[in-house]
Amino acid sequence: MEILKGTAASPGISIGKIFLLDDGKSKTLRKKIPQDQIPQERERFRRAVETVEEQLHRLIDELPEEIKEHSSILQSHILMLRDRMLYDRTLALIGEEGINAEWALRKALSQVKAIFARIKDAYIRERLEDIEFVVNRVEQVLAGQGPTVDLSAVDEPVIIVARDLSPADTLQISREKVIGFVTELGSRTSHTAILARSLGIPAVTGVEDVTIHSLSGDIAIADGLKGRIIIDPDESTLLEYQKTRSRYVQYRLEVVQSSNLPAETLDGFRIKIKANMELLNEVSMVIQHGAEGVGLFRTEFLYLARKGLPTEEQLFQSYKEVAERLSPYPVTIRTLDIGGDKFVSSVSLGDEINPALGLRAIRLCLQERGLFRAQLRAILRASAFGEIRLLFPMVSGKSEILEVKNLLNEVKEELYRDGISFDSNMKTGIMIEVPSAALIADVLAREVDFFSIGTNDLIQYSLAIDRVNDAVSHLYEPLHPSVLRMIKMIVDAAHGAGIEVGMCGEMAGEPLYVPLLLGMGLDELSMNAMAVPKNKRLVRQSNQEDCAAFAAELLTLDSAKAIKKRAVEFFRQNYPSDMETSDFLEFGIKL
Ligand code: PEP
Ligand code: MG
Repeated sequence: MEILKGTAASPGISIGKIFLLDDGKSKTLRKKIPQDQIPQERERFRRAVETVEEQLHRLIDELPEEIKEHSSILQSHILMLRDRMLYDRTLALIGEEGINAEWALRKALSQVKAIFARIKDAYIRERLEDIEFVVNRVEQVLAGQGPTVDLSAVDEPVIIVARDLSPADTLQISREKVIGFVTELGSRTSHTAILARSLGIPAVTGVEDVTIHSLSGDIAIADGLKGRIIIDPDESTLLEYQKTRSRYVQYRLEVVQSSNLPAETLDGFRIKIKANMELLNEVSMVIQHGAEGVGLFRTEFLYLARKGLPTEEQLFQSYKEVAERLSPYPVTIRTLDIGGDKFVSSVSLGDEINPALGLRAIRLCLQERGLFRAQLRAILRASAFGEIRLLFPMVSGKSEILEVKNLLNEVKEELYRDGISFDSNMKTGIMIEVPSAALIADVLAREVDFFSIGTNDLIQYSLAIDRVNDAVSHLYEPLHPSVLRMIKMIVDAAHGAGIEVGMCGEMAGEPLYVPLLLGMGLDELSMNAMAVPKNKRLVRQSNQEDCAAFAAELLTLDSAKAIKKRAVEFFRQNYPSDMETSDFLEFGIKL
């Protein structure tokens, strides 16, 4: 028996035979090309690209209905094929250096890689994976190979083990035959992991050397909860996992079946459970998982994955689509939060020593008025098509709110003059994620319609822990007494002023914290869509009065360690069945 560890990329457990996928990567053949054969070599490259385009178009046409919305990933691959830095550069290199198409394409790719290496944003950096998939496909065609995945010889359900799987490969694999994915590369946020989650197939990524240790036909357990693969398990491990698997399947079934039930405690307290989203194709996930709307729509992604700035019209169309599809539920659209660890190539920020404390989010938007106005206009215009709430990030004090409100009023007047309709009662709120805002929450509450607590940043700024620095990540502690006190202050200030307060940082979706947040009286929790059903279920099993007493007790404790110990104890006492399911582990809470 061999246990190899990786990342839990899609929850669930699969037990079955391994199917080891040959990664099919052609060795890059390097050849010098005589000058008179350059035109033919270029033509060979162009034809290979066309073939891949045709393959991808065919794949899109054949996608099953339930995963149709992911066709945008393949569409983006089609666009990448013709990217100037890849396509034009390869054609140029063939001529300039007199080398074959494979070699030129590899060279172009390594230049693209060098550019990507300088990008700080993890999401964008991971898109390099997609470019590599595209390049691999072209290489396969140049080498005269067909598509990588051929499962026609497989006649029973298998766990696919591969070095890497492209989204196209993943989509191509038939659902009945594949019960799990295990790969050496990839992360939780790679497209393949996202796809595995929407297909409901357990997946483990980032398992070092798994292809070396695996053999087709070997029995294995892919554990997408803990992020590991067990090859050739012994009798007792197998038995244990069979039990865990049926418990998990039963749990998941119950959770999903009940996802549309209201999030109401046993003593009648209603809390709204909403979802966070970033990409348009997440809307159906949000709806399927029973979220009561979107509590945080991060809008950065419409700006990140492109060369220039998106136009007002493009933004409007996206916001409108989200608002319409979610209706009658509301969507809270957060204005652009770039700077810090996210940047957009068309906005120059200059080098900052402390970008997290620099020209970020609302500060940048108030400086780049043109960009901000276009976004505000697009959001307002979309508000005529569904319920939209507007949310401003990184507000640190009252003067920023006043400035933003002035600008918003100017934009509203402009639209009014032009006869363009919008929701004149659109609710406006601010993220509370800077300690200064938390400390004067009572003052700020008089200026807005709602608060949304951004714990990811609030914790970073109050504990002085850089959220992207691994060296200090062990000090990042949501249960720090100072964090709890601040949350309590914010909630009390909001309610004192008669406005609603929600939470949209990662803390809101962790089951362990839900009783505490319920007890503090938050009106809304917004989290990743997958986490919605289980947290709604937790709410239904809770008694708000008990949770309030529990929250009050936690506030008297003096260290994160003591608070965590008590929180785990409370969870174990009050939600024993949830504690038992391994689903709890999905959130990486180590007990
Ligand atoms: C937060 O800071 O908690 C938050 C939700 O915003 P982001 O993670 O996008 O900074
Ligand atoms: Mg934030």
